[in-house]
Amino acid sequence: AAPVDSPIIKPINKGVVHRICAGQVILDLSSAVKELVENSLDAGATSIEIALKQYGEEWFQVIDNGCGISPNNYKVLALKHHTSKLANFPDLQSLTTFGFRGEALSSLCALGNLTVETRTKNESVATHLTFDHSGLLTAEKKTARQIGTTVTVKKLFSNLPVRSKEFSRNIRKEYGKLISLLNAYAIISKQVRLVCTNTTGKNVKSVVLKTQGSGSLKDNIITVFGMNTFTCLEPVSISITDSCKVDGFVSKSGYGSGRNLGDRQFFFVNGRPVDMPKVSKLVNELYKGANSRQYPIAIMDFTIPTKAYDVNVTPDKRKIFFSDEGSILQSLREALEKIYSPSHVSYSVNRFE
Ligand code: ADP
Ligand code: MG
Repeated sequence: AAPVDSPIIKPINKGVVHRICAGQVILDLSSAVKELVENSLDAGATSIEIALKQYGEEWFQVIDNGCGISPNNYKVLALKHHTSKLANFPDLQSLTTFGFRGEALSSLCALGNLTVETRTKNESVATHLTFDHSGLLTAEKKTARQIGTTVTVKKLFSNLPVRSKEFSRNIRKEYGKLISLLNAYAIISKQVRLVCTNTTGKNVKSVVLKTQGSGSLKDNIITVFGMNTFTCLEPVSISITDSCKVDGFVSKSGYGSGRNLGDRQFFFVNGRPVDMPKVSKLVNELYKGANSRQYPIAIMDFTIPTKAYDVNVTPDKRKIFFSDEGSILQSLREALEKIYSPSHVSYSVNRFE
């Protein structure tokens, strides 16, 4: 047979590229809301409300009392790779903000309809901004609002037909995943008041999560899971090196959770909720030796110098590379082996205060 023609390589249309990439940053409802909540935290908010319409299917909104967005930034706000948080590559090693890639708002524009209301301390009125799917500012009008920012996304994924159908079909599951994610932020945010409300079709608005933001990890866990659950936990506090430690709680050996893996395990690195499959596996494995019928709850906050890990691994920044993972896991193993050894006496948590 005659050899076939070699196809011509052409650049993909810019708008198409934008839509393809946006679908990788924003995978589902929870990653969309996560980006907005993290923006509010980065803006120094002490109060954040997440409002959902029809479990997020119609729209969702994140309302904060942070620093607001200054008028010079309106035009570039939702442009791809535009950020106020990172300018040079070396800055990546000393990041303390949740965001830095400048992709969230631009991706949300590509996937749904984005509007923003914002006001800084330098303005006496707020401004309502509308953006198109490519992230361009298309309308601007004055409105009333306290200092802070409200970002609203209507009809997420309406721009990706297949995912849009899946999104509506799985909305309850998406919503469940979102609540679990918000629990993570509620547990770790000690100075921030978090509220989540959902308004159903019949215009019934209900509060689905509420924390006071005036507490400790302990107070937040009690708010989220209740006192009964908290009394079944045992504190963990480990120094790995001079600059590296872990604080948190795990189930006492006799009191795990009957529920399935994962939904009550929360890991944080310097206050950032992340996935730690190896740590989770280790806790589960050691717990199993002491209690094979249940699963352990685990809430662990790792304090690690920013230069000792990399969060820029996946677009959602949930995955982390540690430069010294081995010693972290080893220290954790030793501490948990003690807690789950048959001779360990499990004290009431209050003794550790
Ligand atoms: P990133 O968070 O990676 O910088 P985003 O697309 O999430 O990228 O946001 C772009 C920029 O918009 C941020 O760098 C920030 O300056 C501004 N911004 C977004 N949300 C808020 C908010 N709630 N309050 C104040 N500024 C915000
Ligand atoms: Mg962001």
